[in-house]
Amino acid sequence: MTTAQPVPASSTAPSLLPHKLLSGQKALVTGANSGIGRGVAIGLAQAGADVMVNYVVGDEAAAAVVEEICRSGARGSAYQADVSSEDQVSAMFQSMREQFGTVDILVANAGLQRDAAFRDMTLERWNKVLSVNLTGQFLCAREATREFLRRGVVPEVSCAAGKIICMSSVHQEVPWAGHANYASSKGGIKLLMESMAQELAPHRIRVNAIAPGAIRTPINTAAWQTPEAYARLMTLVPYGRIGEPEDIARAAVWLASDHSDYVVGTTLFIDGGMTLYPGFATGG
Ligand code: NAD
Repeated sequence: MTTAQPVPASSTAPSLLPHKLLSGQKALVTGANSGIGRGVAIGLAQAGADVMVNYVVGDEAAAAVVEEICRSGARGSAYQADVSSEDQVSAMFQSMREQFGTVDILVANAGLQRDAAFRDMTLERWNKVLSVNLTGQFLCAREATREFLRRGVVPEVSCAAGKIICMSSVHQEVPWAGHANYASSKGGIKLLMESMAQELAPHRIRVNAIAPGAIRTPINTAAWQTPEAYARLMTLVPYGRIGEPEDIARAAVWLASDHSDYVVGTTLFIDGGMTLYPGFATGG
Protein backbone atom coordinates (compact mmCIF):
# COMPACT_ATOMS: atom_id res chain seq x y z
CA MET A 1 0.00 0.00 0.00
CA THR A 2 1.37 3.42 -0.91
CA THR A 3 0.51 6.31 1.37
CA ALA A 4 -0.65 9.54 -0.26
CA GLN A 5 0.89 12.77 0.98
CA PRO A 6 -1.34 15.34 2.68
CA VAL A 7 -3.10 17.41 0.03
CA PRO A 8 -2.66 21.20 0.17
CA ALA A 9 -5.83 23.14 0.91
CA SER A 10 -7.56 24.55 -2.17
CA SER A 11 -10.70 24.35 -4.30
CA THR A 12 -14.29 25.08 -3.49
CA ALA A 13 -17.06 22.57 -3.99
CA PRO A 14 -18.38 22.55 -7.55
CA SER A 15 -22.07 23.31 -7.93
CA LEU A 16 -23.78 20.02 -8.63
CA LEU A 17 -27.36 19.22 -9.46
CA PRO A 18 -29.05 18.36 -6.15
CA HIS A 19 -30.58 15.15 -7.48
CA LYS A 20 -27.27 13.74 -8.76
CA LEU A 21 -24.92 15.07 -6.09
CA LEU A 22 -23.01 11.78 -5.97
CA SER A 23 -22.65 10.92 -9.65
CA GLY A 24 -19.65 8.70 -10.36
CA GLN A 25 -19.12 7.83 -6.68
CA LYS A 26 -18.98 4.35 -5.19
CA ALA A 27 -20.49 3.77 -1.77
CA LEU A 28 -20.46 0.93 0.74
CA VAL A 29 -23.24 0.89 3.34
CA THR A 30 -23.02 -1.67 6.14
CA GLY A 31 -26.16 -3.20 7.62
CA ALA A 32 -28.01 -1.99 4.52
CA ASN A 33 -30.77 -4.58 4.19
CA SER A 34 -32.91 -3.06 6.95
CA GLY A 35 -33.98 0.20 8.54
CA ILE A 36 -31.65 3.19 8.37
CA GLY A 37 -28.97 1.42 6.29
CA ARG A 38 -31.56 0.44 3.71
CA GLY A 39 -32.85 4.01 3.52
CA VAL A 40 -29.33 5.43 3.23
CA ALA A 41 -28.31 2.94 0.50
CA ILE A 42 -31.36 3.85 -1.58
CA GLY A 43 -30.86 7.58 -0.91
CA LEU A 44 -27.22 7.48 -2.04
CA ALA A 45 -28.26 5.59 -5.19
CA GLN A 46 -30.97 8.14 -5.95
CA ALA A 47 -28.24 10.79 -5.65
CA GLY A 48 -26.23 8.97 -8.33
CA ALA A 49 -23.85 6.69 -6.39
CA ASP A 50 -23.30 3.01 -7.11
CA VAL A 51 -23.84 1.14 -3.86
CA MET A 52 -22.67 -2.10 -2.26
CA VAL A 53 -25.28 -3.34 0.21
CA ASN A 54 -23.61 -5.13 3.13
CA TYR A 55 -25.69 -7.43 5.31
CA VAL A 56 -25.11 -10.31 7.68
CA VAL A 57 -28.39 -12.26 7.43
CA GLY A 58 -31.38 -11.82 5.11
CA ASP A 59 -30.45 -12.53 1.46
CA GLU A 60 -33.91 -11.64 0.19
CA ALA A 61 -34.08 -8.29 1.93
CA ALA A 62 -30.61 -7.44 0.59
CA ALA A 63 -31.64 -8.43 -2.95
CA ALA A 64 -34.72 -6.21 -2.66
CA VAL A 65 -32.56 -3.20 -1.72
CA VAL A 66 -30.27 -3.90 -4.70
CA GLU A 67 -33.34 -4.07 -6.95
CA GLU A 68 -34.49 -0.68 -5.70
CA ILE A 69 -31.00 0.77 -6.23
CA CYS A 70 -30.99 -0.48 -9.82
CA ARG A 71 -34.44 1.02 -10.42
CA SER A 72 -32.96 4.44 -9.64
CA GLY A 73 -30.42 3.94 -12.46
CA ALA A 74 -27.40 3.19 -10.24
CA ARG A 75 -25.45 -0.05 -9.91
CA GLY A 76 -26.07 -2.12 -6.82
CA SER A 77 -24.58 -5.27 -5.36
CA ALA A 78 -25.21 -7.24 -2.18
CA TYR A 79 -22.37 -8.59 -0.04
CA GLN A 80 -22.74 -10.78 3.03
CA ALA A 81 -20.14 -10.10 5.72
CA ASP A 82 -20.01 -9.83 9.48
CA VAL A 83 -18.52 -6.39 10.15
CA SER A 84 -16.93 -7.65 13.38
CA SER A 85 -14.76 -10.14 11.44
CA GLU A 86 -11.46 -8.71 10.20
CA ASP A 87 -11.15 -11.32 7.42
CA GLN A 88 -14.71 -10.83 6.20
CA VAL A 89 -14.38 -7.04 6.15
CA SER A 90 -11.11 -7.27 4.25
CA ALA A 91 -12.69 -9.63 1.68
CA MET A 92 -15.68 -7.29 1.33
CA PHE A 93 -13.47 -4.32 0.42
CA GLN A 94 -11.53 -6.52 -2.01
CA SER A 95 -14.83 -7.40 -3.67
CA MET A 96 -15.84 -3.72 -3.69
CA ARG A 97 -12.63 -2.85 -5.57
CA GLU A 98 -13.15 -5.72 -8.02
CA GLN A 99 -16.78 -4.88 -8.71
CA PHE A 100 -16.76 -1.07 -8.53
CA GLY A 101 -13.07 -0.16 -8.97
CA THR A 102 -12.79 1.73 -5.69
CA VAL A 103 -14.77 3.14 -2.76
CA ASP A 104 -15.48 6.87 -2.26
CA ILE A 105 -18.04 6.74 0.54
CA LEU A 106 -18.34 4.45 3.57
CA VAL A 107 -21.45 4.57 5.72
CA ALA A 108 -20.56 2.46 8.78
CA ASN A 109 -24.10 1.80 9.91
CA ALA A 110 -24.41 -1.84 11.06
CA GLY A 111 -25.44 -2.04 14.67
CA LEU A 112 -27.50 -3.96 17.20
CA GLN A 113 -28.77 -3.97 20.76
CA ARG A 114 -28.50 -6.73 23.39
CA ASP A 115 -30.17 -5.05 26.36
CA ALA A 116 -29.91 -6.11 30.01
CA ALA A 117 -30.05 -4.62 33.48
CA PHE A 118 -26.46 -3.82 34.39
CA ARG A 119 -26.09 -6.48 37.08
CA ASP A 120 -27.36 -9.12 34.63
CA MET A 121 -25.24 -7.95 31.68
CA THR A 122 -23.28 -10.99 30.49
CA LEU A 123 -19.84 -10.68 28.98
CA GLU A 124 -21.27 -12.27 25.85
CA ARG A 125 -23.84 -9.46 25.46
CA TRP A 126 -21.25 -6.81 26.23
CA ASN A 127 -18.76 -8.23 23.71
CA LYS A 128 -21.37 -8.76 21.00
CA VAL A 129 -22.51 -5.13 21.01
CA LEU A 130 -19.01 -3.68 21.28
CA SER A 131 -17.65 -5.95 18.53
CA VAL A 132 -20.39 -5.12 16.00
CA ASN A 133 -21.12 -1.48 16.87
CA LEU A 134 -17.60 -0.24 17.61
CA THR A 135 -15.00 -2.72 16.35
CA GLY A 136 -17.08 -3.19 13.19
CA GLN A 137 -16.88 0.54 12.46
CA PHE A 138 -13.13 0.53 13.17
CA LEU A 139 -12.50 -2.39 10.79
CA CYS A 140 -14.58 -0.92 7.95
CA ALA A 141 -13.19 2.60 8.38
CA ARG A 142 -9.61 1.28 8.37
CA GLU A 143 -10.17 -0.59 5.10
CA ALA A 144 -11.86 2.44 3.53
CA THR A 145 -9.01 4.70 4.69
CA ARG A 146 -6.42 2.42 3.10
CA GLU A 147 -8.26 2.62 -0.22
CA PHE A 148 -8.72 6.42 0.01
CA LEU A 149 -4.98 6.88 0.71
CA ARG A 150 -4.02 4.54 -2.13
CA ARG A 151 -6.20 6.39 -4.63
CA GLY A 152 -6.03 10.00 -3.42
CA VAL A 153 -8.27 12.79 -4.70
CA VAL A 154 -9.85 12.39 -8.13
CA PRO A 155 -11.11 15.94 -8.76
CA GLU A 156 -13.72 14.94 -11.36
CA VAL A 157 -15.33 12.70 -8.73
CA SER A 158 -15.03 14.67 -5.46
CA CYS A 159 -12.98 17.37 -3.69
CA ALA A 160 -12.17 14.76 -1.04
CA ALA A 161 -10.16 11.55 -1.22
CA GLY A 162 -13.00 9.86 0.63
CA LYS A 163 -15.84 10.27 3.08
CA ILE A 164 -16.66 8.16 6.13
CA ILE A 165 -19.99 8.53 7.90
CA CYS A 166 -20.28 6.75 11.25
CA MET A 167 -23.81 5.92 12.37
CA SER A 168 -23.82 6.87 16.03
CA SER A 169 -26.85 7.66 18.22
CA VAL A 170 -28.15 10.25 20.65
CA HIS A 171 -26.79 7.71 23.16
CA GLN A 172 -23.27 8.90 22.44
CA GLU A 173 -24.39 11.74 24.77
CA VAL A 174 -27.47 10.48 26.61
CA PRO A 175 -26.90 7.79 29.28
CA TRP A 176 -29.25 4.82 28.86
CA ALA A 177 -30.11 2.58 31.80
CA GLY A 178 -30.49 -1.05 30.77
CA HIS A 179 -28.37 -0.44 27.67
CA ALA A 180 -24.85 0.16 29.08
CA ASN A 181 -23.23 -1.88 26.30
CA TYR A 182 -25.05 0.03 23.54
CA ALA A 183 -24.42 3.50 25.04
CA SER A 184 -20.74 2.61 25.57
CA SER A 185 -20.41 1.54 21.95
CA LYS A 186 -21.89 4.83 20.74
CA GLY A 187 -19.77 6.90 23.13
CA GLY A 188 -16.79 5.03 21.68
CA ILE A 189 -17.88 5.88 18.15
CA LYS A 190 -17.84 9.59 19.03
CA LEU A 191 -14.13 9.60 19.89
CA LEU A 192 -13.22 7.05 17.23
CA MET A 193 -14.84 9.34 14.65
CA GLU A 194 -13.22 12.51 16.01
CA SER A 195 -9.77 10.91 16.27
CA MET A 196 -10.00 9.57 12.72
CA ALA A 197 -11.24 12.96 11.49
CA GLN A 198 -8.29 14.77 13.08
CA GLU A 199 -5.73 12.28 11.75
CA LEU A 200 -7.13 11.94 8.23
CA ALA A 201 -8.24 15.48 7.38
CA PRO A 202 -4.74 16.41 6.09
CA HIS A 203 -5.19 13.61 3.54
CA ARG A 204 -8.50 15.13 2.44
CA ILE A 205 -10.51 12.34 4.03
CA ARG A 206 -13.62 13.65 5.75
CA VAL A 207 -14.96 11.70 8.70
CA ASN A 208 -18.27 12.67 10.30
CA ALA A 209 -21.09 11.02 12.22
CA ILE A 210 -24.86 11.04 12.27
CA ALA A 211 -26.57 10.65 15.65
CA PRO A 212 -30.17 9.59 15.06
CA GLY A 213 -32.84 9.93 17.73
CA ALA A 214 -35.88 7.66 17.49
CA ILE A 215 -36.18 6.37 13.93
CA ARG A 216 -38.93 3.94 12.87
CA THR A 217 -36.97 0.69 12.20
CA PRO A 218 -37.00 -2.92 13.41
CA ILE A 219 -34.35 -2.17 16.10
CA ASN A 220 -36.88 -0.28 18.26
CA THR A 221 -40.28 -1.68 17.28
CA ALA A 222 -41.36 -1.83 20.92
CA ALA A 223 -40.94 1.97 21.22
CA TRP A 224 -43.44 2.89 18.48
CA GLN A 225 -45.66 -0.05 17.56
CA THR A 226 -48.59 0.56 19.91
CA PRO A 227 -50.35 3.92 20.42
CA GLU A 228 -49.37 3.85 24.12
CA ALA A 229 -45.70 3.25 23.34
CA TYR A 230 -45.74 5.93 20.65
CA ALA A 231 -47.32 8.46 23.05
CA ARG A 232 -44.64 7.66 25.65
CA LEU A 233 -41.94 8.09 23.03
CA MET A 234 -43.32 11.46 22.03
CA THR A 235 -42.71 12.83 25.54
CA LEU A 236 -39.02 12.60 24.55
CA VAL A 237 -39.37 14.23 21.11
CA PRO A 238 -40.20 17.97 21.08
CA TYR A 239 -40.86 17.92 17.33
CA GLY A 240 -43.74 15.52 17.92
CA ARG A 241 -43.10 12.78 15.39
CA ILE A 242 -40.91 9.73 15.04
CA GLY A 243 -38.07 9.94 12.53
CA GLU A 244 -38.07 7.94 9.31
CA PRO A 245 -35.04 6.35 7.60
CA GLU A 246 -35.42 8.98 4.84
CA ASP A 247 -34.69 11.73 7.40
CA ILE A 248 -31.29 10.10 7.93
CA ALA A 249 -30.77 9.29 4.23
CA ARG A 250 -31.07 12.93 3.17
CA ALA A 251 -28.44 13.97 5.72
CA ALA A 252 -26.14 11.12 4.65
CA VAL A 253 -26.35 12.25 1.00
CA TRP A 254 -25.37 15.77 2.04
CA LEU A 255 -22.53 14.61 4.31
CA ALA A 256 -21.19 12.36 1.53
CA SER A 257 -21.37 15.12 -1.07
CA ASP A 258 -19.05 18.02 -1.83
CA HIS A 259 -21.79 20.36 -0.57
CA SER A 260 -20.47 19.55 2.91
CA ASP A 261 -16.81 19.75 1.87
CA TYR A 262 -15.77 21.86 4.88
CA VAL A 263 -17.59 19.67 7.41
CA VAL A 264 -15.01 17.58 9.26
CA GLY A 265 -15.29 15.70 12.55
CA THR A 266 -18.86 16.77 13.24
CA THR A 267 -21.75 14.77 14.65
CA LEU A 268 -25.04 15.75 13.07
CA PHE A 269 -27.88 15.08 15.52
CA ILE A 270 -31.10 14.16 13.70
CA ASP A 271 -33.47 13.62 16.56
CA GLY A 272 -36.48 15.97 16.46
CA GLY A 273 -34.98 17.74 19.48
CA MET A 274 -34.52 14.67 21.68
CA THR A 275 -31.18 15.99 22.96
CA LEU A 276 -32.75 19.31 24.05
CA TYR A 277 -33.68 17.86 27.47
CA PRO A 278 -37.46 18.07 26.84
CA GLY A 279 -38.08 17.24 30.52
CA PHE A 280 -37.02 20.84 31.26
CA ALA A 281 -39.57 22.38 28.86
CA THR A 282 -42.03 23.04 31.68
CA GLY A 283 -39.68 24.12 34.42
CA GLY A 284 -36.87 22.25 36.02
P1 NAD B 1 -31.97 -2.43 12.04
O1 NAD B 1 -31.99 -3.54 13.01
O2 NAD B 1 -33.12 -2.21 11.15
O3 NAD B 1 -30.66 -2.54 11.12
C1 NAD B 1 -29.41 -2.95 11.61
C2 NAD B 1 -28.62 -3.52 10.46
O4 NAD B 1 -27.32 -3.93 10.93
C3 NAD B 1 -29.27 -4.75 9.85
O5 NAD B 1 -29.13 -4.70 8.45
C4 NAD B 1 -28.44 -5.88 10.42
O6 NAD B 1 -28.46 -7.03 9.61
C5 NAD B 1 -27.08 -5.23 10.44
N1 NAD B 1 -26.11 -5.96 11.25
C6 NAD B 1 -26.23 -6.39 12.53
N2 NAD B 1 -25.12 -7.07 12.89
C7 NAD B 1 -24.29 -7.05 11.82
C8 NAD B 1 -23.00 -7.56 11.56
N3 NAD B 1 -22.33 -8.27 12.50
N4 NAD B 1 -22.44 -7.37 10.34
C9 NAD B 1 -23.10 -6.68 9.39
N5 NAD B 1 -24.33 -6.17 9.58
C10 NAD B 1 -24.91 -6.36 10.77
O7 NAD B 1 -31.68 -1.12 12.91
P2 NAD B 1 -31.50 0.41 12.49
O8 NAD B 1 -32.36 1.18 13.39
O9 NAD B 1 -31.64 0.59 11.02
O10 NAD B 1 -29.99 0.64 12.94
C11 NAD B 1 -28.96 1.09 12.07
C12 NAD B 1 -27.95 1.89 12.86
O11 NAD B 1 -28.57 3.07 13.35
C13 NAD B 1 -27.38 1.17 14.09
O12 NAD B 1 -26.00 1.46 14.21
C14 NAD B 1 -28.16 1.79 15.24
O13 NAD B 1 -27.44 1.74 16.45
C15 NAD B 1 -28.32 3.21 14.73
N6 NAD B 1 -29.40 3.95 15.38
C16 NAD B 1 -30.71 3.62 15.21
C17 NAD B 1 -31.70 4.37 15.84
C18 NAD B 1 -33.16 4.09 15.66
O14 NAD B 1 -33.96 4.73 16.35
N7 NAD B 1 -33.58 3.21 14.79
C19 NAD B 1 -31.33 5.43 16.67
C20 NAD B 1 -30.00 5.73 16.84
C21 NAD B 1 -29.03 4.98 16.19
